[in-house]
Amino acid sequence: MIEIKQVSKWYGSFQVLVDCNTSVAAGEVVVVCGPSGSGKSTLIKTVNGLEPFQRGEIVVDGISVGDPKTDLPRLRARVGMVFQHFELFPHLSVLDNLTLAQVKVLGRSKEEAAQRALQLLERVGMKAHQAKSPGQLSGGQQQRVAIARALSMDPVAMLFDEPTSALDPEMVQEVLDVMVDLAREGMTMMVVTHEMGFARKVADRVVFMDEGRIVEDTGMEAFFDPAGQRSERARHFLSKIL
Ligand code: ADP
Ligand code: MG
Repeated sequence: MIEIKQVSKWYGSFQVLVDCNTSVAAGEVVVVCGPSGSGKSTLIKTVNGLEPFQRGEIVVDGISVGDPKTDLPRLRARVGMVFQHFELFPHLSVLDNLTLAQVKVLGRSKEEAAQRALQLLERVGMKAHQAKSPGQLSGGQQQRVAIARALSMDPVAMLFDEPTSALDPEMVQEVLDVMVDLAREGMTMMVVTHEMGFARKVADRVVFMDEGRIVEDTGMEAFFDPAGQRSERARHFLSKIL
């Protein structure tokens, strides 16, 4: 579903991504971790065309992201993204946050969009809050609405960039629970997170980045195997977060 081949990216003379290679098969959940500044956000943003890259190729659901002919808004509708900071439209109700793009981008009728929105709000446990504005919700609730909003576009894959790291600790689990459900239902997911409990539960693979490089790309079991072969950096990183 997602193929990242030999991707390199520079900010001026600073190389932020160095020959990155990985892939996410349909239905697979890949967790991306690594120290701050290692290029995780940049990598995940290249996947839905939010960040251009200079070398290599990314193909999502058969669409080449770097091809100048690619319709990026259309691609972004097919790949949902949830960020660290909830980016709901503050002046719209929860329900309208979920219906807007369905009507504008997918051309759904208002009724159809509202029906789909309510289904998804129910799924993330937020249906009762449909008429509220984002400012009236807790961070965890806002993030669940952000996930529902991304799902309202019927994406073929979902990208998450540290979706729980800006949350108060007591709200982390409610968001992870929604993500675990999504993973178990077979959604293709690429998740930047340091929540290793989440990784252990649902990840198929772990990608470890350091200084713009994918240093490790291993199965879940192997990544946590104390006897496993791994780079010194990954070992050090794991010892700090586990
Ligand atoms: P991570 O998400 O792993 O913390 P990022 O992908 O955000 O890392 O950043 C990787 C590196 O790229 C960092 O050194 C960061 O300072 C740098 N960087 C990120 N965005 C920009 C930018 N717009 N211009 C220049 N450097 C940037
Ligand atoms: Mg980041």
